[in-house]
Amino acid sequence: MARRTKIYEGKAKILYEGPEPGTIVQYFKDDATAFNAQKKDVIEGKGVLNNRLSEFFMTGLNQIGVPTHFIKRLNMREQLVRQCEIIPLEVIVRNFAAGTMAKRLGIEEGLQLPRPIVEYCYKDDKLGDPLVTEEHIAAFGWASQQDMDDILSLALRVNDFLSGVMMAVGIKLVDFKIEIGRVYDGDFQRLIVADEISPDSCRLWDIETGQKLDKDVFRRDLGSLTDAYTEVARRLGVMPKSSTPISKPKLIN
Ligand code: 5GP
Repeated sequence: MARRTKIYEGKAKILYEGPEPGTIVQYFKDDATAFNAQKKDVIEGKGVLNNRLSEFFMTGLNQIGVPTHFIKRLNMREQLVRQCEIIPLEVIVRNFAAGTMAKRLGIEEGLQLPRPIVEYCYKDDKLGDPLVTEEHIAAFGWASQQDMDDILSLALRVNDFLSGVMMAVGIKLVDFKIEIGRVYDGDFQRLIVADEISPDSCRLWDIETGQKLDKDVFRRDLGSLTDAYTEVARRLGVMPKSSTPISKPKLIN
């Protein structure tokens, strides 16, 4: 069997050349990293859960007319996605203060923001993905003014969709990060939601108890990351209750 071509390996995913031109196979690894990869671990089952959860969110977005790169899930760890040029920005939407914003502005975590706040970080691991303004983005040509209008509109539509979906299962969408890709249809180009949407890239708190159900469980050593992600998947009906993708085979004496 021919070996497939690896295009890129990131911290949590590997990209392979897809079966058709213009497609990519996105493989979800079990690797977890935090604080710009200073903290690392392998969390068995994380890739399987994120593959399923990202499929769930991206499919829902496609269905309400928010374009994404997602085509179809291939197997437990892989999905077929549309190839796109990734805009070198992390687009962060915040509904409640948390993480770097709470720290930067000295605000208590959990404070509801007067309206969703959208931030942009320049995607560069060596620099630690620094916060940038639209002035930097325009001056350095990372995206045009039209792109920025489209990115803002996509980000807010994703926020409305995800907030509603999570609210329905008793989870508060505190904040999240998305990445945006550029695709060409003949002479036209348009922007689509790319990368992944999963508890790795969102802050999700239980509405009743405030329990964290996202990657902060790993970042802050708050317990089992797979238990947290499995709970999100269970509430969304993404993984059947009986499926146990994370447990190893047991020896029966
Ligand atoms: P913060 O800036 O507070 O660290 O993160 C804000 C939101 O964006 C959080 O939901 C966090 O998970 C997500 N986020 C920020 N940077 C990254 C990143 O490099 N990778 C991933 N997966 N998520 C990120």
